[in-house]
Amino acid sequence: MPRALFLDRDGVINRDFGYVYRKEQFEFVDGIFDLTRAARREGYLVIVITNQSGIGRGIYGEADFQALMQWVRVEFEARGTGLDAIYHCPFHPEYGLGGYKRESPCRKPAPGMILQAARDHSLDLASSLLVGDSVTDMQAGEAAGVGRLFLLTGEDNKYAAAFPISNLRELIPFLTAPES
Ligand SMILES: [Mg+2]
Repeated sequence: MPRALFLDRDGVINRDFGYVYRKEQFEFVDGIFDLTRAARREGYLVIVITNQSGIGRGIYGEADFQALMQWVRVEFEARGTGLDAIYHCPFHPEYGLGGYKRESPCRKPAPGMILQAARDHSLDLASSLLVGDSVTDMQAGEAAGVGRLFLLTGEDNKYAAAFPISNLRELIPFLTAPES
């Protein structure tokens, strides 16, 4: 069964300036290309799971998100790596407009996006890894049964079930490490 490296987007792939939707705002986080290159070499699928309530809030549109992510995919490919799948959740239970205002099983800390990815790609979640920069990422990973969780420390820097890292490259040795 394939395994995945799950990545949060804002704060992990790009610096989180809040509601990033244009490529001019997209600043890649140090180490992201090295990490994903190593992960793919080890046979992991690289899968993005990202809350995008900016869509639901009307700050930017679905088409803006898709266009940006298409550009991001090309930037990865230009560096000899890539993203295998991207899942996003546009809803927000309080601030969503119209049909976007709802509770959703896809919105982290709920595990819906991870579980959907597992169904779509027949993933072995127990041998998969997740990296995020917030506790809600860790909660989603833990609820889904992802084997190892890595918290890129910043604003949130503690979560009992997660291994803290301060740079994405610190995760690379874990790609080959046996389960502990
Ligand atoms: Mg984040």
